[in-house]
Order: sequence, then C-alpha cells, then structure tokens
Amino acid sequence: MGARLSGKVAFVTGGSRGIGAAICQAFADEGATVVLTYGGSKDKAEAVAAAINAKGGKAEAVGCDARKQGETARVMSAAAEKHGRLDILVNNAGIAREVTLRKMSDEDWNDVMAVNVTAPFEAIRLAANIMEPGGSIITVGSILGDRAPSPGLGSYCASKAAVQLLTKAAARELGRKGLRANVIQPGPIDTDMNPADGETADLQRMMVPLGRYGKADEIASVAVFLASDEASFVTGTTIDVAGGLTA
Ligand code: NDP
Repeated sequence: MGARLSGKVAFVTGGSRGIGAAICQAFADEGATVVLTYGGSKDKAEAVAAAINAKGGKAEAVGCDARKQGETARVMSAAAEKHGRLDILVNNAGIAREVTLRKMSDEDWNDVMAVNVTAPFEAIRLAANIMEPGGSIITVGSILGDRAPSPGLGSYCASKAAVQLLTKAAARELGRKGLRANVIQPGPIDTDMNPADGETADLQRMMVPLGRYGKADEIASVAVFLASDEASFVTGTTIDVAGGLTA
C-alpha cells in the first residue's frame, strides 16, 4: 500500500468491471476513499468494494445508470455530501454499439451518447462547482477518439472525440480554480468490452508495436499518476496508453 492519494475521495464511474475496477483498486491501494458506480453489475461492483475493504482500504459501490439523464450528477453529489469532499473524478463508464451508420438506430446512438458523453458532462459540471483546488478530473476516452479505423464504430468514435474535447475544455476553464482535467486514451485492453481472445483480437494485436493487449492495471497506473500531486502541472492533455499503436 502506498500513500500517493492519501486523504482523497474519488468518484469512479463504471467501477464494477474491467478498467474501472482496476482504477478503483489502484486508487484504494494509494490511500483514497473510493465511491464506485455500477449500471447493471451490482454483485460485481459490491465484490470490487468488498475486496478493497478486506485489504484495509475504503470503498463503496452505488448504483447509477448513466443512461438516465441527471442520475450521474445526483449520485455523485450524494457521494460528495456523504464524504464531505470530492478530490478525484474518473469518467470511466462506457459502452460501444458496433453497427454501421446506415443501420444505426436512434436508440443505439442515444445510449452511446448518454453514457459516453452526457454523463461525463454532468459529472464534470458538478466537479467544476464543488471540487476544491487540487482536484483532478480524469476521463477514460479511447484512441478511437482520434480515428475511425473500421466500419461500425461511428457512434463510439464520435462519443470519444466529444468527451476528449469536453475534458480539454474543462481544463481550459477550470485551471484558475486549481482543478486539472486530463484524458487517458487506451488502446486494446483485455476486458469484457474488448477481450484478448475476441474475433478481432489478432488484428488489433498486429497493429500494436508492443505486440499484445494491455492490461486494465496498465491504465490504472496512469490514472493514479494523473490523480496524484505528481501530475500537478499536467492538465488539458491526452495520454495514449496503447502500446505504441498511435506512434
Ligand atoms: P467493460 O465493458 O469491461 O466495463 C464497462 C464499465 O462501464 C462497467 O463497469 C459497466 O458497469 C459500466 N457501464 C456500462 N454501462 C453503464 C451504465 N449505463 N451506467 C453505469 N455504468 C455503466 O469496459 P472497459 O473496462 O473495457 O471500458 C472502460 C472504459 O474504457 C470505457 O469508457 C471504454 O470505452 C474505454 N476503453 C476501453 C478499451 C478496451 O479495449 N477495453 C479501449 C479504449 C477505451 P455495469 O456492468 O455495472 O453496467
């Protein structure tokens, strides 16, 4: 256990699985109190919190369907009130609907935008109003926020481009308040969303100079850095964590 985030309170969306769960664990290992949200995976989220608490950390899981407008801000506000402060926000919850633009339904489009863009917007707006100087906002975007490498990813790419610039806009507006905002753009990371044994996994591996998928922990370690005071002059930037894919 370290102490790089000692005394800080973190709100992490989508902490039940994958990258979000790894970030929660890493934050708690560095001394943060973690409030993690889940959409449908209540049991998994509670297991993440229980594992952290069993190791002597502090975490709690709360339900929060990011598709519902207002829900993310409501749950985050309650967490900040309960803990008396909020130092770190991680916009991590995300979904993809792989379908070409010709066939994309309004529902698919709206769901992706609601979870990947509108919920982070609500959270960032609230953070802007309640975070004290030293606060850190981290958005988990995607390298697909800068490119559309294959058909069927239109809504996802558009959402990740939007949330990247939303986060940079936050950095621009909130710097004078002492708040930082940065984007992590993962490449292929082995999770339920993009399993390392999935249909397109070999193709993705081929495009990565390091020749492999990343692990959720390899995103979490960058999130710890951005959340900590070690990154005190880092804001408004995008860090690709993609094994060299974007070189
Ligand atoms: P997973 O599918 O493994 O996990 C997604 C997380 O988001 C879960 O905790 C899930 O919670 C949560 N979530 C989904 N829908 C909702 C909702 N409506 N309300 C609240 N929470 C929700 O994905 P990853 O861990 O891989 O992805 C995490 C982030 O990283 C996403 O933003 C994704 O776009 C991004 N990313 C992932 C990459 C990869 O290769 N894996 C590459 C680039 C970016 P629950 O199960 O409880 O609904």
